[in-house]
Amino acid sequence: MKYQFANCKELLELCEKEKLPISQVAIKREMELFGKSKPYVRNKMKAVRNTMWEAIQKGLKSTTRSQYGLVGGSANKLYKGIKKSGTMLQSKVAIRAMAYAVATNEQNALMGRIVAFPTAGGAGVVPGVLFSTFQHMKSSKRRMLNALFTASAIGIAILKHGGTFSAAKAGCQAEVGVGTAMAAAGVTEMRGGTPEQCINAAALALKNMLGLACDPIGGLVEVPCVKRNAIGATNALSASDMSMLGVESYVPMDEVVEAMMNISASMNESIRETALGGLAITPTGMGIRKKMGLPPVPKEYLNRKFAKKCGSCKRCG
Ligand code: SF4
Repeated sequence: MKYQFANCKELLELCEKEKLPISQVAIKREMELFGKSKPYVRNKMKAVRNTMWEAIQKGLKSTTRSQYGLVGGSANKLYKGIKKSGTMLQSKVAIRAMAYAVATNEQNALMGRIVAFPTAGGAGVVPGVLFSTFQHMKSSKRRMLNALFTASAIGIAILKHGGTFSAAKAGCQAEVGVGTAMAAAGVTEMRGGTPEQCINAAALALKNMLGLACDPIGGLVEVPCVKRNAIGATNALSASDMSMLGVESYVPMDEVVEAMMNISASMNESIRETALGGLAITPTGMGIRKKMGLPPVPKEYLNRKFAKKCGSCKRCG
């Protein structure tokens, strides 16, 4: 098989050898692996793109709150913020990326149809970043589709290198974190970046998300998930800008993936999708837990915060 790769290093070598962008290697890989034609593969991705856009459109209009009222209506507020972008600190493209990311994740919280790309919890970053940049650049639909293939190739390379998308295994660094890496690479190719710049952007984005806990309040994929996708989107845009300006990740992407998995091995289960740590056991989080009728958090997960005195402040008493 000519277009298979086991990590980002091999993906880059393939691109250089074949003189192809990442997206085209990803398309050829799909054709080779499943014995399908190029139009078939592209049409499949078009269906993905269309579903993403439908979720964004619905999410932007919606002001409905989720079942327990944790999320809902923020995408609508952010979208209105685009008109006020003169008074905002970030660019229009960043605000729109946040609005689109939140729209997607709010739809997920409302049981709407979204694309788990790479997962449902981290589903907003890639469409948020790519659709926003597509509109900002007035890019072609072909480039938009190619960016999705590039993002998917980064996801494949992460998995092939022993990484994961599972928050139960590696926390949110593997969901929203991986989503930002995929988005950073995709948007970099959309902007005309080389395969090296795309992979470098992915490394810069993922490095910034290492160690991110999965700590959803009440076990619902809502808080912090929805807004975390928005800020993940801006992380991806920053990484892409840095890469396009020639800033390089000192640690290569494959090693960043290894670091993510090393960190996951030291992560307590309380911050790996169990809702027994982090934001999930704050007073606010516990209040929602009670409202939902969930059993109380076992004592061993509580009162940990000041258990060890680090000596850096006087809060431990
Ligand atoms: S906090 Fe957990 S559930 Fe929420 S997006 Fe991150 S990994 Fe997914």
